[in-house]
Amino acid sequence: MSDPVLATESLNKSFGALKATDNVSIDLRPGEIHAIIGPNGAGKSTLIQQICGGLQPDSGRVLLCGQDVSDLGTQKRAKAGMGRTFQISELCMEDTVLENVVLSAMGAENLVWRFWKPALKRPELLERAEAALERVGLGDERETRCANLSHGQRRQLEVAVALTLSPRVFVMDEPMAGLGAGGSKRLTGFLDGLREEAPILLVEHDMDAVFALADRISVLVYGKVIATGTADEIRASREVRDAYLGD
Ligand code: ADP
Ligand code: MG
Repeated sequence: MSDPVLATESLNKSFGALKATDNVSIDLRPGEIHAIIGPNGAGKSTLIQQICGGLQPDSGRVLLCGQDVSDLGTQKRAKAGMGRTFQISELCMEDTVLENVVLSAMGAENLVWRFWKPALKRPELLERAEAALERVGLGDERETRCANLSHGQRRQLEVAVALTLSPRVFVMDEPMAGLGAGGSKRLTGFLDGLREEAPILLVEHDMDAVFALADRISVLVYGKVIATGTADEIRASREVRDAYLGD
């Protein structure tokens, strides 16, 4: 079996007495979509944050292409190939679509960078940003202010930001959240093709999307991975049905 592109080793994170992630070890192999599912409050976003560097684990490690990135911050992890999209949008509403992609891809999270618009003249970055916008279907919206985008378009834009850095993995926290049926279907088709470019760790509540896309599914309950397997294996698991999916 090929080496994992992304792996966590025994990630632990507590908030006071609450164990938000409890010894979570998962991996992501080349070409695959690995979905993480589980009830609200199970620790999915906490796990994603630890993987992307937004939250420091109490113990455990994160490996990207075999390299220990546990001590790197979010920007350095992004540069190392961690492509992320968030459950809560971090887009800058007053900026245009194209500005958001370029500045986010540069790691322009703070205001000093945000005001440093000359960055937008970097041709290679502009080219990649425009190509990414084309791919997610926002090619015609590059001059639109983010504030004027629909919810679905903002989700597309977040994927474009991740794409611009040509990441080695995509890490996505509920990309379908708030999309209608049509939007979810379009994004599902898009993610299906994206896995060839880089594997995807996908936290998602939309079970139709999960069962359609995931090569493997891990179920997180109270911070613990209670099962990992194919869609059929997960559907057939008594423990998973009891804890999450229901009958
Ligand atoms: P999920 O994404 O699976 O819905 P979360 O990772 O957001 O779950 O949360 C897991 C648990 O940790 C929840 O009980 C949540 O209330 C708690 N939690 C998350 N972030 C914090 C925080 N910064 N401080 C305290 N508790 C938190
Ligand atoms: Mg969450």
